[in-house]
Amino acid sequence: MRIAFIGLGNMGAPMARNLIAAGHDVRGFDAAAATIEGVPTRAGPEEAVAGAEAVVTMLPNGAIVRDVHARVLAAAAPGTLLIDCSTIDVESARHVQEAARAAGLRPLDAPVSGGTGGAAAGTLTFMVGGEAADFEAGRPILEAMGKRIVHCGAAGAGQAAKICNNMILGISMVAVCEGFHLADRLGLDRQALFDVASTSSGACWSLNTYCPAPGVGPQSPADNGYKPGFAAELMLKDLTLSQEASASAGASTELGAHARDVYARFVEAGGRGRDFSALLETLSKA
Ligand code: NAD
Repeated sequence: MRIAFIGLGNMGAPMARNLIAAGHDVRGFDAAAATIEGVPTRAGPEEAVAGAEAVVTMLPNGAIVRDVHARVLAAAAPGTLLIDCSTIDVESARHVQEAARAAGLRPLDAPVSGGTGGAAAGTLTFMVGGEAADFEAGRPILEAMGKRIVHCGAAGAGQAAKICNNMILGISMVAVCEGFHLADRLGLDRQALFDVASTSSGACWSLNTYCPAPGVGPQSPADNGYKPGFAAELMLKDLTLSQEASASAGASTELGAHARDVYARFVEAGGRGRDFSALLETLSKA
């Protein structure tokens, strides 16, 4: 297929390369870089979109997605698939899909989990919102970049699944870090806590798979100086999106709000650019 790819940053560039590796004809555009290794680029979104059967966007936030999609709508042919893989607020996701549908395009929201490692390896999980027929049309494109493709429901459902999942993740990482911190203060060996909790009712992904304590559990960013992984500021972004969604949907998510505040303080106090599990170090120093 001929595919336009807009937003060739840490995630977008490797995703575009995987589309090329799968045999697609990709034309890219990024506002910050005229050339991207391994991806043919064009001078603007309009040039990238001309003649494309599908457009993929991987951009920083909802405001930018709204802007870029408005330009895409003006340039894309009716029937074009428009797949937004960025993590953005549910309201923007629904807004851009409504506008795209009104212009005769076939929009999907398809945020990802799996990080830059998953983007490079083509093993991302895609959480997709939109019409069932459009989902089926977009599936081969997503399969070239990921290994799990889940249709979550109508417009915005992919974003909703992403922020609910990451709210659970943020809360559980704070809980695991606090568990190790309390263990330290009680003189309980970290390995002993891991051995007990990872096989007991405290077991969860943040502990068992992504243990924040260096030298304990399987290899994780903690064993690599807390190099991300999943950067603390991206966790803060997703926790902020989940709180905005809670406020507009009237949901009560008190621990989500608390986790957002914990990560806001952590990012402010030197967590930016570090893995989100490095929160444990900050607690240890407190
Ligand atoms: P990034 O900042 O590396 O890339 C974003 C790119 O968009 C940049 O290269 C930027 O120049 C470009 N851009 C900004 N405005 C533009 C415009 N108007 N037109 C064209 N290009 C524009 O960010 P990233 O890490 O690649 O993340 C992209 C999205 O993926 C974000 O929504 C993020 O939340 C989400 N995400 C990131 C990760 C991760 O681990 N990095 C994991 C899951 C989801």
